[in-house]
Amino acid sequence: NYLPNIHNHSFFLKITAMLKVEELSKSFRTEEIETIALNKVSFEVTEGEFIAVMGPSGCGKSTLLNILGLLDNPTSGKYYLLGKEVGTLKEKDRTLYRKGKIGFVFQSFNLIDELNVYENVELPLIYLRVKAAQRKKMVNEILDRMNISHRARHFPQQLSGGQQQRVAIARAVVSNPKLILADEPTGNLDSKNGKEVMDLLTELNKEGTTVVMVTHSQHDSSYASRTIDLFDGEIVTDVKAFL
Ligand code: ADP
Ligand code: MG
Repeated sequence: NYLPNIHNHSFFLKITAMLKVEELSKSFRTEEIETIALNKVSFEVTEGEFIAVMGPSGCGKSTLLNILGLLDNPTSGKYYLLGKEVGTLKEKDRTLYRKGKIGFVFQSFNLIDELNVYENVELPLIYLRVKAAQRKKMVNEILDRMNISHRARHFPQQLSGGQQQRVAIARAVVSNPKLILADEPTGNLDSKNGKEVMDLLTELNKEGTTVVMVTHSQHDSSYASRTIDLFDGEIVTDVKAFL
C-alpha cells in the first residue's frame, strides 16, 4: 500500500525543529576559578523526540537543561527555541517566552510547601491568566489523569515521593507545553514509582510532547528515542534508539 496516509499530519506538515543549539558554551566564574560547564555543544531536537541526556556528575547536564529551559543564558553560542533565537534574551523576556511552552520536572519535585496539591497545579495557569472556570476544569482533568485527585487538598509533605512527583508532572503539563524538561525525575523514587513516572513521560511523548530528560539510569534511558552522552561539558555520543 503506497498511498500516503492523510491522517498522518507529518505527511503534510514540515517536520520542525523544536530547538537547536550551536556551539553552546557556559562557564561559571567563582573568585579566581573558571569552570567550563558546557563546551561548544551543538545538536538539534525535532518535535516529538524523547531524549535522554546522560553522563557523570558534574559533566554539565543540569547546566544544559537550565539553558534549554530558559532559566539561564549561555556564555556563548546560539540557542533557537521554536525558531526564535533565545540565548540572548534578558531574564524577564526569558520568563515571558517560557510561559506555557516548557514544563519542568525536577529530581526533588520542587513543589511549594505552603500550597496544597490543587493550588500547586493551578499556579502556572494563574500566571498564564487563564480564567477561573477554565482553570478549575484543566486542574481537575490533569489531577485525574495523574491519579492524584484524592489528594487535591493535601500539602506536599503529606504525600509520598511518588505522589509528589505525579503532582509535579501535573503542574509541568497542565498548560499543555510543547516541551518537557526533566532533570533526573526518578532520582528520588523507588523503582515502582520511578516506572510510573517514566510511563507518564512516555505517554505524554506519544501524544506529541517533546521530552528532554537528564538521567543517571540506563533503564530510564531505554524509554528514550535518542541518547546524548556528555562528558566534561562536551557531547561524546548522540545515538538514536532502534525502536
Ligand atoms: P551535572 O548536572 O551533570 O551534575 P552541572 O551542570 O550541575 O552538572 O555542573 C557542571 C559544572 O558546572 C560542575 O563543575 C559544577 O560545579 C559547575 N557549576 C554548575 N552550576 C554552577 C554555578 N551556578 N556556579 C558555579 N559553578 C557551577
Ligand atoms: Mg545535575
